[in-house]
Amino acid sequence: MTSELTHHAKILIVDDELANVRLLEKILAREGYLNVSMTTDSRDVANLFADNQPDLILLDLHMPHLNGFEIMDLLGKLIPEKTFLPIIVLTADATVEARRKALANGAMDLISKPFDNLEVALRIKNAVRTRFLHLDLENQNQILDERVRERTGALQETVSELHKAQQRVVQQERLRALGMMATGIAHDFNNILFLILAHSELLLNETESAGEDTKAVKYLRTIISAAQDGAQMVNRLAQFQRPPSETDLRQTIPLTHLIEQAVELTTPRWKGQAMAKGVDINVVTELAPIPDILGDQSEIREMLTNLIFNAVDAMPEGGTITLRTSMAGLAIVLEVEDTGVGMTEEIRERCLEPFFTTKGNQGSGLGLAMIYGIIQRLGGTLEIKTQPGRGTKFIVRLPTYHTVKVDEIAKPDSGCEPLAILVVDNQPVLCEVLAEYLQGDWHRVTIAHDGDEALKKFAAEKFDLVITDKAMPGMTGDQLAIALRKIRNDVPIILLTGFAESGISTSLIPEIDAVIGKPVNLTTLRHAIATAIADRREKDAPVDAPFSSARTAENIRPLPEAAVTHLANDVSSNIDEA
Ligand code: ADP
Ligand code: MG
Repeated sequence: MTSELTHHAKILIVDDELANVRLLEKILAREGYLNVSMTTDSRDVANLFADNQPDLILLDLHMPHLNGFEIMDLLGKLIPEKTFLPIIVLTADATVEARRKALANGAMDLISKPFDNLEVALRIKNAVRTRFLHLDLENQNQILDERVRERTGALQETVSELHKAQQRVVQQERLRALGMMATGIAHDFNNILFLILAHSELLLNETESAGEDTKAVKYLRTIISAAQDGAQMVNRLAQFQRPPSETDLRQTIPLTHLIEQAVELTTPRWKGQAMAKGVDINVVTELAPIPDILGDQSEIREMLTNLIFNAVDAMPEGGTITLRTSMAGLAIVLEVEDTGVGMTEEIRERCLEPFFTTKGNQGSGLGLAMIYGIIQRLGGTLEIKTQPGRGTKFIVRLPTYHTVKVDEIAKPDSGCEPLAILVVDNQPVLCEVLAEYLQGDWHRVTIAHDGDEALKKFAAEKFDLVITDKAMPGMTGDQLAIALRKIRNDVPIILLTGFAESGISTSLIPEIDAVIGKPVNLTTLRHAIATAIADRREKDAPVDAPFSSARTAENIRPLPEAAVTHLANDVSSNIDEA
């Protein structure tokens, strides 16, 4: 018998005959048991059990008040279901029936009176050891249960993280697919609008030069203006989710100034209209000193106005709009917060989708989709914190760039000599329209329908200018430009693209001197030709020629790559962390 058992085991003796009790005590004392309690009155058992919490009960069968069987019934109710508490019955009743009944009622073992001391000691030891083994097992089970609970908790957390990540991926995929669709539609519409615009302008020129100030001129102007509006809308549509492009404007943007401007420009909406409805809207600015960012001013303006308009729409009962800026590491943080109706989880998840609106006919659902596209192209992130009835906070994080002054794009020379121009476009009808435009300005035009044809003609003849479409089957416009440069380096090249902002911008590829967005109108075309020619002259000038105009690309030193990646990663994690 180990001393641990005898030291710790608590034993309760229940027998109405004191002599028996004393004898058992003596046996137990000899074996080294230290915690022994006893009673000769079976009615005390419940209390003693509660006070002492015994590990073993030695129980007489035949007793006044409650006999051994009744005590076992009572203990059956007191002992928790999964706990093993041994009961050894001490009995002088040697009948088979009594022994069976005792065992059936929960006795673990039986000891016959009169006792054989050694047998009693051994049976007690076995019972106590079994009890302790059970306690150990119970402990182990508890530890295991605890571990299982911990693991289950961790697993549930992982599953919920996975679920969130999956939702994020699904949302981004949906936005991407919608963006691709929008871009595709925009591309096709652009070509159609290009034709409408070009032919109307040609017709307008003819009508005007014929000196007839007729209704036709008025109608044509309306057509042109409508086509231009359409072109602008199509261009916006193409902005969703389109990746950054070399044709994107990279102006230095004084954000603080733009915010103040946006507040002022939108005053009629948040003050005027709100007052007309009898509600009060306040606009508060909390602007910290921040560095300039690089981007397209008109896009940033659009973003700010849209966020303010949305906030106004969300506050039919009035409230406060707060525009706040701060720095967080390398990023500028812009917050636009309102005290309006807020969004449900479902609306928040979908609000960035193009065409998603809760405003019925009053809304286009394009505002936030466009904003999200703009922010992504700037390498920034958008986070939306909102709760129904608790207002909404849009948090825009934009990377800062180390910049030097960026010059405006060169203004075109007014007049232009007649030039020999090579026009490259895979769509014959677009070539024709361009040719019409150019020939109208006395230029001589040669047409090629793909890159290979263009290269052959370019090698055979001396051209002053090349205008090429960007997206062509086989060789793209960019690739063609690089190949052309290998033949002759001094000819200006203009790239025509379906996806640029209307107007002219410059390219990051040095082979391209100007980029024009479709649909082209005559003014833009003339402007681009002048810009490209001036630009090429400048590039061909000696190295120490004074720096003058037109280029933006060389002036930009982008953010260190690590910072860009860091911010880009934020995009995915933040869009639904509200
Ligand atoms: P539109 O304003 O034309 O509905 P947006 O893309 O700007 O389109 O917004 C999409 C939707 O997002 C809105 O219809 C509105 O449900 C929700 N939303 C945008 N801004 C807020 C805001 N500040 N508070 C509450 N809901 C907003
Ligand atoms: Mg809106």
